[in-house]
Amino acid sequence: MVKCPECDYEMKEVSARANPGTLIVLDQCGRCGGIWCDKWELFPVEPEEGERLDPLNEGLLQAPVALVKESLYCPRCGDRLRVFQDPSLPPDIQLERCRRCDGIWLNRGEFGRFKNFQRKTREEKRGQEETLQKVVRAWQNPESWVTTGTRGIYAYPQAEAESDPWPSLTLKGALSLILQTLLRLVLRF
Ligand SMILES: [Zn+2]
Ligand SMILES: [Zn+2]
Repeated sequence: MVKCPECDYEMKEVSARANPGTLIVLDQCGRCGGIWCDKWELFPVEPEEGERLDPLNEGLLQAPVALVKESLYCPRCGDRLRVFQDPSLPPDIQLERCRRCDGIWLNRGEFGRFKNFQRKTREEKRGQEETLQKVVRAWQNPESWVTTGTRGIYAYPQAEAESDPWPSLTLKGALSLILQTLLRLVLRF
């Protein structure tokens, strides 16, 4: 029996779909809605599961979650939970982690926010990879090249001319370096 670190209520097991095609069993408090993840359980859960297990319901969010305790203790090993500082996470996600068994406690709403954040980062990454692949394909096809400037370094694919695939100048600089490296690999010079 696992008790909620926040309100001592007995938690129930909930299964969540994870990558690749597996189920992970998490513990969720039926009273405060918080979710306990043992080590390695939080990250592989599919981002879409966030809304199902921890719906971002405005009505619920307006009802304050009474924080009854100042410090929380690990439901597995009893060690004190510490706020997990990760600069890559948005400030509204404050995970509490057990340093002894590496379990993670998420208050109501946090699991959903975390999964939302994970999905967004994944989509951004996928978008960048797609752009990269599109441009690499264009580089491989000399007919799609439009040579500009004196050296012709910036070849531009005609098919993509209607939209600017580069979100910012810095990214453009970084990506053009990557592209040059890839081009070298593709053409083997
Ligand atoms: Zn609870
Ligand atoms: Zn622990």
